[in-house]
Amino acid sequence: MDAPFALGDRIAALTLGAAAGQTIVADSTTVLLYKLARAAVTLREGRDEVVVDSDNFPTDRFVLEGIAAERGLTLRWITPDPALGVTPEQVAEVVGERTALVVLSHVAYRSGYVADVPAITALAHRAGALVLWDLCHSAGVLPVSLDAWGVDLAVGCTYKYLNGGPGAPAFAYVREGLQGSLTQPIQGWMGAADVFAMGPGYRPGPGMRSFLSGTPPIVGMLPVRDMLDLIEEAGVVAIRAKSVALTAFVVEWAESRLFDLGVRVVGPRDPERRGGHVTLAHPAMRDVTAALWERGVIPDFRFPDGLRIGLSPLSTTFAEVEAGLEAVREELRARS
Ligand SMILES: *Cc1c(COP(=O)(O)O)cnc(C)c1O
Repeated sequence: MDAPFALGDRIAALTLGAAAGQTIVADSTTVLLYKLARAAVTLREGRDEVVVDSDNFPTDRFVLEGIAAERGLTLRWITPDPALGVTPEQVAEVVGERTALVVLSHVAYRSGYVADVPAITALAHRAGALVLWDLCHSAGVLPVSLDAWGVDLAVGCTYKYLNGGPGAPAFAYVREGLQGSLTQPIQGWMGAADVFAMGPGYRPGPGMRSFLSGTPPIVGMLPVRDMLDLIEEAGVVAIRAKSVALTAFVVEWAESRLFDLGVRVVGPRDPERRGGHVTLAHPAMRDVTAALWERGVIPDFRFPDGLRIGLSPLSTTFAEVEAGLEAVREELRARS
């Protein structure tokens, strides 16, 4: 009964820069994103626009399209440079008195671009809007300071840099000052004030309890708990340092050994603006990815031509990265 809050508080303390009492573990990212976005637009009733970017992860765009249709809202699309990401200037152009909510990713899932969360959050707040950040690609690999940045709402998964494994549950953060005024749409028994009262009507529980819906996914939480022990031992600052070294290693290797085969590195050159993954683009990458999987080298393919290398710093060695890149080179040479 306590695990969604206890594990949420540990994720918050070790990876989100957030005080206790603002984070739960539950559901999937998709479902928590729906719950928080829907709660936010209801709180900002009267404002009829939601800002989102065309390069955001599909689930984020799809959930918002659904909410917009359900609530009669308009999506205001930002079109970022696909090799980089959303800038504060682009957000400033679209936010205004009609904006209810701004939903963006901290680290872009393809390019790896790190958005300026404090600057964009401040811009949204100046317009009277709420912000919801997707931290799927930043929690556990980059320093995050949700409380200091004044973020309202955030969600993220635990199966990327928190190594929980496929289907591990997600987390949600709700700034303490907002908790009493937000009403999420999936009212379930675990979110009720007295879970075992089994009474006739729903009364939301206090604080973060009201954001729960059903039974906590306990088994899926166990690997996350163990990963948090490792993160605690290493510290996010050291993890980020290794992450930067790993991505720089990929970029340098690609520049010296894959450029002659026509590979481009997609994404920011500045390590300050680069998250924990690197995307290498080439027209043959879809085929190459399939061949790599056959060889036991398992990167992602991201449309249209990107091989995405996700480097979880605590469980990935430089030797493994080099072996994987050698395999990419061999597969590309076999096709050139
Ligand atoms: C991985 C990822 C998700 C995943 O959503 P699930 O509901 O956990 O499958 C959502 N958003 C972003 C930005 C992601 O990278």
